[in-house]
Formats: sequence, C-alpha cells, structure tokens
Amino acid sequence: MQEERENLAARLLEEVDCGAVYLDAGGKLLFINRRAEELLHVERAKVLGKRVDMLPLRTPIYRVLSENAQDEPVEVSIDGSVIQVRSVPLGGDSPEGELFQLRDISHDRKEKRQREEFVAMMTHDLKSPLTVIMGYVQALMGEMPSKMDPSLHLFVKEMDKSAVKMLSMIDDVLDAYRLEAGLLQIDRQPCDARSLLEGCCRDGEREAAVHGSYFLSEICDGIPTLDLDEKQITRVFANLIGNAVKFTPRRGTISVTSTIEGECLLVQVRDTGIGISESELPRIFNKYFRASGAQGFKGTGLGLTISKAIVEAHGGSIRVESSAGKGSCFSVLLPLHNERCSFTP
Ligand code: ADP
Repeated sequence: MQEERENLAARLLEEVDCGAVYLDAGGKLLFINRRAEELLHVERAKVLGKRVDMLPLRTPIYRVLSENAQDEPVEVSIDGSVIQVRSVPLGGDSPEGELFQLRDISHDRKEKRQREEFVAMMTHDLKSPLTVIMGYVQALMGEMPSKMDPSLHLFVKEMDKSAVKMLSMIDDVLDAYRLEAGLLQIDRQPCDARSLLEGCCRDGEREAAVHGSYFLSEICDGIPTLDLDEKQITRVFANLIGNAVKFTPRRGTISVTSTIEGECLLVQVRDTGIGISESELPRIFNKYFRASGAQGFKGTGLGLTISKAIVEAHGGSIRVESSAGKGSCFSVLLPLHNERCSFTP
C-alpha cells in the first residue's frame, strides 16, 4: 500500500510542469523529474545517486543545486532562459533532505519587459502634448497682468502648477523604467552641496508655508566640493522634503539638518507627520509601494525607489526611521571623497 502510494506520487511528480529535484541530508541526488531534466539539460541516469559536490562545476544542475534558495527564490540564467529556484528543507528538526522546485520564468520576464517598454513609450509620448500645453500656459501667464481679467489669474496659475506636477510624475515613471533597464544616467560634476541644500530648503520652506506647516533648516558649514549629479541629488532632497510636507498635517514641523560624520555628509529630513507603521517600513523603498496611510495623498510610489537608486549610484545610502502617528526621519549619507558610505546597523 505504502509502496503503491509512493509510486503514484513519483508518477504525478513526473507530470507537473515544474522541475523537482530532491537531495538527501548528505547532498545525494535521489529524485529528479522529467521537467527538471529538460530545464537543467541532464539525463537522470547520469546524475541519480551522485552527490552535488561530485557533479561538474559548470553544469546547470550544479549551479542550481548549490544555490541557497531557502529564504528567497533565486534566479539562475541557463542558456538564455531564466530559471527560478526555490528550495524547501524537509524533515523539520531532524533534516531529511531538500526539495528544489524549478520554474522557467523567461516568458513572464519577457512579457513584463514588453509591458514596461509599452508604458515607458506611452508615458514618453504624453510628454510632447504636455510640453505644448505648458508652453501656452506660460504664454498666458506672460499676458496675464495686462490682457487678462484678474478673476482668471488663479485658474491659469493652478493649470501651471498641475502641469508641472504631471511632468514630474511622467519623469518618475520614465526614470523607474530607465532604472530597471539599467539606463538611468548619473553625471557627477564638482558641486557646491551647501548651496544645493539651501536651494532645496528654500523651496521646501515655500511648500511648507503654503501647506500651513513650520519649516526649520540647519545646514552645516565646511562641506567640501562634492562630485554630484546636481539635478538628480536635488531631486532626491526635493522628494524627501516634498513627502515630509505632504504627509504632515497642518501646523506640523519639517526640519532639514546636515552634519559631517567622518568621511560622509549626513542629511536628515524629519517631520512630525503621519509616520509609517513598523510592518510597512521594510517595503518603503520598493517600486510602486505606498503605505496604507498614504491613501488620499497624491503620488506614484516611485519617488523613494528612484531616490535610493540615485543616492546609491553616488556611493551613498539612505534609510528611514519612523513611528506611525508620530513622524519620520529620512537620513541620507553621501561620501565626501568618492568612496562608499553606509550606515552602521
Ligand atoms: P509617493 O509619495 O509618490 O507615494 P514615494 O516613493 O515618495 O511615493 O513614497 C512611498 C511611500 O512612502 C508613500 O506613499 C508613503 O506611504 C511613504 N512615505 C514616504 N515619505 C513619507 C513621510 N515623510 N511620512 C510618511 N510616509 C511617507
């Protein structure tokens, strides 16, 4: 009876559309199904009963089985195909072995890339008519004082503000695509970081005033000239300050401070806003992620993903501390001398 059941299980495993390989506790290969043979380009007769460390090093089966794919699935490229490997230890406290599940995700990957290319193309095409609209709005603003009825001034200003916002959202979507495709370019030039930060603070102060919040800044002296992509780093701080203003209710406080810490410049953007719950914090830099508290606030969920990529492309790092209902603090470390800086855990 037991034998019959085992035979049936093995026959069923032959038919599933997912590769399965089983190693015993000593790393000996005791089972491989038909799909795994196809994905790994092996014949079972040549590998069954062998230990992984006895398999030739460069073969797909060795590469796949020597991956530690227990905590998170791992992707391995085999002859142009992307194979996702997930492994599950069997036997609980007294380990019996490990089951590897293999899936060919090349097709999903290709579809995802095509979808992203399409979105990027569409988004890019939206930019031309928007630029035309912005041009005419600017022309109207120029004519406003003499030729336009004052009751219409507010409308034109609002149109201009919304168009600028839309352009920045389009740029975020395009940059998220560029980032994924490895096309986001960082052009570092010697830059006066203090005046860059002061410029961001001036804009932040204006934004906070419109929003009805307090804004404080303390930018330290003695910051040397840094090699930065000025436009992109400005965008990082504009995003962090913009978020701090956006997610802080009226009469809250936003502060920006900078200090020199060893070989790094540390910039911190704090707020007394809605904060982020502990369970959502680990996902905060993920593409399109918006915390539950962000419902009702405008945004794309791309700003932090792009900011992190920009800071890391400068050899720096970014982190967040936050407490739901109390506020958040985003910290950015940038190297003073083109080395890498990271936060000590
Ligand atoms: P967006 O602001 O467009 O939603 P971001 O990538 O800049 O996208 O931020 C992602 C999410 O992180 C936000 O939707 C929000 O949930 C959370 N977040 C970012 N900054 C703050 C902040 N200062 N306070 C509270 N939540 C924040």
